[in-house]
Formats: sequence, structure tokens, C-alpha cells
Amino acid sequence: MTEPLGVYLHMPYCPYKCHYCDFNAYRLPPRPGVLAEMAEGIAEEVRRAGGEDRGREVGSIYFGGGTPSLFPPDRIAALIDLVRRRYEVRRGAEVTLECNPGTVDLGSLRALRRAGVTRLSLGAQSFSQETLRRLGRGHSPDDTRRVVRLAREAGFHRLNIDVIYGLPESTREEARADAEEALALRPDHLSAYALELEDGTYFGVLVRRGQLALPSDAEVVASGEAVAAACHEAGLERYEISNFARPGQRSRHNLLYWHQGDYRGFGPGAHSHFAGRRFWNVDGPGPYLRSVAVQGEAVAGEEVLSPAGRRGEWVYLHLRLIDGFTLAAFHRRFGLSLDEAYPGVRRQLERQGLLEHRPGRVQPSPSGRWLLHRVAEPFLP
Ligand code: SF4
Repeated sequence: MTEPLGVYLHMPYCPYKCHYCDFNAYRLPPRPGVLAEMAEGIAEEVRRAGGEDRGREVGSIYFGGGTPSLFPPDRIAALIDLVRRRYEVRRGAEVTLECNPGTVDLGSLRALRRAGVTRLSLGAQSFSQETLRRLGRGHSPDDTRRVVRLAREAGFHRLNIDVIYGLPESTREEARADAEEALALRPDHLSAYALELEDGTYFGVLVRRGQLALPSDAEVVASGEAVAAACHEAGLERYEISNFARPGQRSRHNLLYWHQGDYRGFGPGAHSHFAGRRFWNVDGPGPYLRSVAVQGEAVAGEEVLSPAGRRGEWVYLHLRLIDGFTLAAFHRRFGLSLDEAYPGVRRQLERQGLLEHRPGRVQPSPSGRWLLHRVAEPFLP
């Protein structure tokens, strides 16, 4: 049976650019009509997309960004409607929208809920006003608390909160305090990512100039484990290295990525994947909109993975999951055993303490989770 498809819509504008952000996100230009123009461009891409996946069953829709909650709810509703017309969207499909505190009110949250959004992902990042200021975020901890309250009032039961740790000059105690503040809001899901410093960001420049110090790797790992301990105590189980959920509340859309499923992306820079073939759109909003207007699409590149590449990527993605994968699942997917594909590798990684000894299962050990590149390396072509 074909697994359901995921649909991703990239909404590329933000009210400000955070100091650590390396996403394909742009400060909202101060020109009227920009959001409408972009929403219309994405709608046009959905309408005119090629037919290979038309009519396929969709299990999840995800509005990411950028800040999708900057867009008027009727634009989000129209996009959901278009996706429903183009695909067979499953009853009970998960429809997630990323939302930054300070960009919504009760009216817009109610409208989003009516539009069919079932899950909100809130970019809290920290509950310290000083940290938020240093990150260049334009909201306060109280804005986050308020948006959680309003989201519940608007009928959202599924809420993810994003926090970030491993920030310059930060400690494990601060990471734990942020997680505890987030968990006090009783989300059913928490994502906690370690800061990855990229060269082109404001933070990247400061670190290169020696004006900002990052915590040591040991402190980052300790911070991640402090967050994990807080989640465990609050009843959220870790199912992926950076993701925690109450039972039954895992992100279906993100699981599809980690299971190497098929997904179709729309919007600037969005990526798509169909059975080992990947293609992606141009990043910039201007070039994207011009290309969609002329050609009905904005594909910038394509890659077809070799059989060995697909296997390696499948293993790498599954190793992000706390349960890893079963040998039977690998065999079902690729028609050969793990030991045939990678003779001796599993036992060697077990001896090095990077994989657990589990009959029939390949699962990273607690230390292996933090050394994923080393665990995955022998599986990659
Ligand atoms: S809100 Fe998110 S996407 Fe936008 S600039 Fe900040 S980190 Fe980047």
C-alpha cells in the first residue's frame, strides 16, 4: 500500500530576521499587497503543478516558513482548499501551521481553526526576555503564554512549542528552565533544537570575529539531556533526537520525513521527494513569483538518488528516531538484509557503543544519538 503523501507549503516572510536564522525567510517588505501576492503565487503553483501526484492520498499538510501566521487566515483557508481539490486529503489529516507569538489574536486563531488547521507549532524559543532580545526575536515570554491561552480558547488541542538551546553564553540550567516554562503550558509536543551556527547569520559573524562565545560540545549535550529529563518528568516521551510528545501526539508530518516518505513542497525554496527523486524550488520570493507566473512552476534543481544513496539516507533518517528501525523494515523496503547491504557494520557500531544491542532492531545508544554523523557514516555511499 502506498504511504500517504505529505504536502508542505513554504510561507517565506517574517516580521524580523532573527540573529541565528539561516532559513529561507525574508523580512516582510514594507509594501502593501506582498502577502497576498505570495499567497496567490503559491496557489498558482498548486493549481498548475504537474500531474504525477494528482489524486494521491494526503495524510498531512504543513505550513512552514518564515512565519505562516503572518498571512491572513482566509489566504491559508484558500490554500488548504486548493490542496483538498488537488489531492485526496484523508479524513482527520494533520494540518500544522507554524505560528510566532505576537502575530495572531483570538479572531485569527478561530479563523485558522475554521479553515482546517488542526495543530499549531509555536516558536517560543526561550522564556527569558533577555535571551529573546539577544536572539533578535520580536516577542516576549508573555506573548507566548498569551498565544497558548488564546489557541486553546480557539479550539486548538494539538500544540507544539519550539525551544532552542546551546545558545552563546548559555548553560544547561537555562536550557532546563526554558523547557520547564514551556512544559508548564502543557503542550502535547515539544521540539528542542540545539543552535546550529551558520556563517551567513548575524551570530555567525559575531562568533567568527570572536565577539560571541558558544558553549562547549559537552555543555550542549548536557543542555539537551536536561531538556529531555524535563520532558520525561512531564510525561512527554522522546521519539526523535530533538522531539518529544505525549502518547499519540507525534508529528505525523515530520515522521514522514524521518521515514523517507514522499512529500510535495510548494513555495519559495520548497523541496519535494518522490521515491528517491528530489527537486526543489528557487529560494528568492521575487524569482519564485516570476517563474510561477511564466511557467507555472519554479523548480531550480533535481537529484535522483542511487539505490545505495537511498538506502544510506533511509538509515540515516531512521537513526534520528529513538527507536531506530527494525531489520525487518529495512528488508521490506530494500529487498535485502542490512548485513548483506553493510557487512559487519552493525556489530562494529555495537562494539563501539554507538548502537544498542537489540535483537532485530538497530537503535542508537544514548551516546550514539549525539554522534549521529559517526553512527551514520558507514551506511552512507
Ligand atoms: S521567525 Fe523563524 S524563520 Fe523567521 S527569521 Fe526568526 S527563526 Fe527565521
